[in-house]
This record gives sequence, C-alpha cells and structure tokens, in this order.
Amino acid sequence: MDQQQNPPPADPGAESIMCSRCGTAAEGTPPTWTCSVENHTRRYFCDECARANLRAIESRLDSAWW
Ligand SMILES: [Zn+2]
Repeated sequence: MDQQQNPPPADPGAESIMCSRCGTAAEGTPPTWTCSVENHTRRYFCDECARANLRAIESRLDSAWW
C-alpha cells in the first residue's frame, strides 16, 4: 500500500494543473483532460491517463452517485 499525499493548491490564482497519474503539467485546463473529485480533492488526468483510467474513474463516480 503506497500512500500519496496530495497537498491542496496553495495558490488560488494558479491555473496550471498537473496530471495526477503521470505528472504531466499543463497550462490552464485542457478540455481533453478529465477532472475527478476524490475526497474533496480535484484530480486531473491527461488525455492518455484518462483513457487508461476511464473505467476506474467511471466506477468511482458510479459508486459515489449510488
Ligand atoms: Zn497523465
């Protein structure tokens, strides 16, 4: 079990985001990226990681909504 700590964004004005999976940095919010809210923390996944995690993300969303 690996524990990851995701510190909340310190700068509210910072628009740059990073992929929570591969760490790819992006300026602004690319429309192709996926935003997943987990434990009140926004996690962004780039296009490639979004595809890879699509099932997992959808499953979490489904479980959350149910
Ligand atoms: Zn990624």
